[in-house]
Amino acid sequence: MALIVQKYGGTSVGSIERIRNVAERVAKFKALGHQVVVVVSAMSGETNRLIALAKDIQKVPDPRELDVLVSTGEQVTIALLAMALKDLGLRARSYTGGQVRILTDDAHTKARILSIDEENLRRDLDSGHVVVVAGFQGVDAAGNITTLGRGGSDTTGVALAAALKADECQIYTDVDGVYTTDPRIVPEARRLKTITFEEMLEMASLGSKVLQIRSVEFAGKYKVKLRVLSSFEDEGEGTLITFEEDSMEQPVISGIAFNRDEAKLTIVGVPDKPGIAAHILGPVAEANIDVDMIVQNVGVDGTTDFSFTVNRNELKKALDVLNMVKTAIGAREVLGDDKIAKVSIVGVGMRSHAGIASKMFKALAEENINIQMISTSEIKISVVLDDKYMELAVRALHQAFELDKSPESA
Ligand code: ASP
Ligand code: MG
Repeated sequence: MALIVQKYGGTSVGSIERIRNVAERVAKFKALGHQVVVVVSAMSGETNRLIALAKDIQKVPDPRELDVLVSTGEQVTIALLAMALKDLGLRARSYTGGQVRILTDDAHTKARILSIDEENLRRDLDSGHVVVVAGFQGVDAAGNITTLGRGGSDTTGVALAAALKADECQIYTDVDGVYTTDPRIVPEARRLKTITFEEMLEMASLGSKVLQIRSVEFAGKYKVKLRVLSSFEDEGEGTLITFEEDSMEQPVISGIAFNRDEAKLTIVGVPDKPGIAAHILGPVAEANIDVDMIVQNVGVDGTTDFSFTVNRNELKKALDVLNMVKTAIGAREVLGDDKIAKVSIVGVGMRSHAGIASKMFKALAEENINIQMISTSEIKISVVLDDKYMELAVRALHQAFELDKSPESA
């Protein structure tokens, strides 16, 4: 007998019929003798619908009230799923985040989980109930409803698995696992049987939307055994997130991530002297703008160029800050570009293989794609390029690193 936490995303509970399918899947696990905790998202589209309602009233909705509003989406699905389970003759009980007592900080719309009271859940499980918990929500110390940020139900699932010391946390979604890249862009993309936790963390932070990044961090911290699976298929083992590298089967590159979420700023003709980077980025940080990639050119004629990327939503704000900096430090010009994309290759195999970067740059050069910025870490290489070449770049890299071939047959 195992204790399993299953999380079902919005499309998996998107209709009454699908909720019944989820109930049937849960029933199968119960019939095998397992204890099951189910975490559900709101029905697909519901969270967006609620946010739109709020924005019709207040341009920037009050965060506390927004959390009261959007948390209702998950409250609907827990009740419906508990009913569907009862309809199959199972014992089931639904819980909102506050009822469990998933205690969070008070950062509305992006709260962090502080602790989970598992006593009630444990008691229900021991008496044979399926426990159904609303994802994405918690309660702060003062009793206010909080939410964990978009995609936060993944984090609820993993956090419950950690608190209950579950044997496995299964994330059911509309794809059957984690792919080498998005199959909508590269049809040859392949499902990975395993991916290391570090790689998954990079993939999630670089734009892969399969798991909320915080859920991956949580899984890493508490060593939760995490698996991504399809709720629309009966067979299939999905993708297991592992903590050890299996060097026999380890491909050099596991996946390619991409995003169009960033914009690039360049400040031209900056006096090349000590302290200049701090002069430029200090005010940006003070304006609470997150900076991702940074490039400073080698100075010529006593001046240099300095570029960095920020979230696209913050381009305007960052331009305003930089224009002030420009005057203060006597730079020549400030440029902004939101037509960029970031493409990254990720793989723990990079640690033990040379020549990965040059292979990446060669593949892009062969397609005549200009690289605007580069950044690397131990297990990833990211490039910024013109966003109209993003898909071409992803396809070229997928082919160059032979990601369509399984590592076992390579
Ligand atoms: N319903 C929330 C959202 O759409 C949380 C989730 O689905 O994970 O972001
Ligand atoms: Mg999700």
